[in-house]
Amino acid sequence: MKLESYDELKHSKYRLSLMLFLFLNVAVSLFCLLPLMDAAKNEITLPVAIVAFFSATTLISCLMKPKLKFPLLNPVALILGALWAWHINYRYHLVFYFDGSFLIISLLSVFFISAIALSDYLMAFCLHITPPVLTVLLLDDGEHFGLIMLTIALPLIGFSLQHLMRRRADNFTLRLMRQLYEEKETFSDLSMLDPLTGLYNRRGLKNRLDNILVNHAGSHYVLLLDIDHFKAYNDNYGHAMGDQALARVSVAIRDAVRSRDVVTRYGGEEFLVLMTNVNASIAMKLAERIRQYVVDLEIPHRFNERVSTHVTISAGIAPIYDNEFDQAVANADRALYVAKNQGRNTILAWEDLPKTHTLSSGEVH
Ligand code: GH3
Ligand code: MG
Ligand code: MG
Repeated sequence: MKLESYDELKHSKYRLSLMLFLFLNVAVSLFCLLPLMDAAKNEITLPVAIVAFFSATTLISCLMKPKLKFPLLNPVALILGALWAWHINYRYHLVFYFDGSFLIISLLSVFFISAIALSDYLMAFCLHITPPVLTVLLLDDGEHFGLIMLTIALPLIGFSLQHLMRRRADNFTLRLMRQLYEEKETFSDLSMLDPLTGLYNRRGLKNRLDNILVNHAGSHYVLLLDIDHFKAYNDNYGHAMGDQALARVSVAIRDAVRSRDVVTRYGGEEFLVLMTNVNASIAMKLAERIRQYVVDLEIPHRFNERVSTHVTISAGIAPIYDNEFDQAVANADRALYVAKNQGRNTILAWEDLPKTHTLSSGEVH
């Protein structure tokens, strides 16, 4: 899961809260309007009518524009809070309850809407209840101060605490997600590297290759390298020594080429170097340098005696035409095959092969 989808999740929660808030306002205002319409048609209270109209139109526009990301909740909460305050003030003077229960009931209905729809948005919650609360306190004129304060304080404390806990939970989720995302990146990087040599594996090569072929128009070369008589090395010096030799040869190859060249462990003791933006002579020079660096490692290899007493490599080199990477590898493989036949510790360019040479790439080794 990406961070964007977490943000989308948060946005859709925000939108749902806004729509629920608007819906509850429509419902409560219609409820207030209905009996008035029946009894005395001329007594429709203006603020409630505005609440109904404003909430309904905003709700409809929210439904019609699901992608809209404008932060509407706070201003809408304040506007509706002010309208409810206006309504309470208006009704208080029309229908006077001597025990103050009208004010408490009004306050509770405002809290009811906020509690259901705005419990996750403390700011909007406060903006919505503040105008009615102030109005009720003013109208009551201190007569039921204790009761009204209790009605206000209890939900406010409850929601503040709940809000704090939720914020902590949200932060924790976000941190966890970032951590998972970073770890995923690390694993994805690791999955592109060969653990023994630290070079790219085929997956890493493919990843770099797609990027290079798309973004870097130019002449690129493939160099296919293979350690000479490595089976004999393994058989006589042991697999552990073989691994060490492989790791050292890898370092020599990496050191010999430029940082932008992509060095890959292509198979067991085969390496592929993708040389970007080079011409034939530079490519050949780099290949020659690799061969020399490997010889200079002076890793003893008595069973390579027809070539040297040290570990050596042979290589085939071929240009990439028309982004045909696989064809270039096949051509380099042919050149490598001929290099092996010519006595090893040799580099051959595919372009220098006699054109009558028609070996298939599968014949190497
Ligand atoms: P050639 O000069 O024709 O390339 O002969 P070769 O013996 O190198 O060729 P071959 O392909 O027959 O042998 C490759 C050997 O490389 C076989 C295997 O024992 C060894 N090898 C492949 N992968 C590893 C590895 O990860 N570690 C070790 N120690 N040896 C490996
Ligand atoms: Mg081989
Ligand atoms: Mg070999």
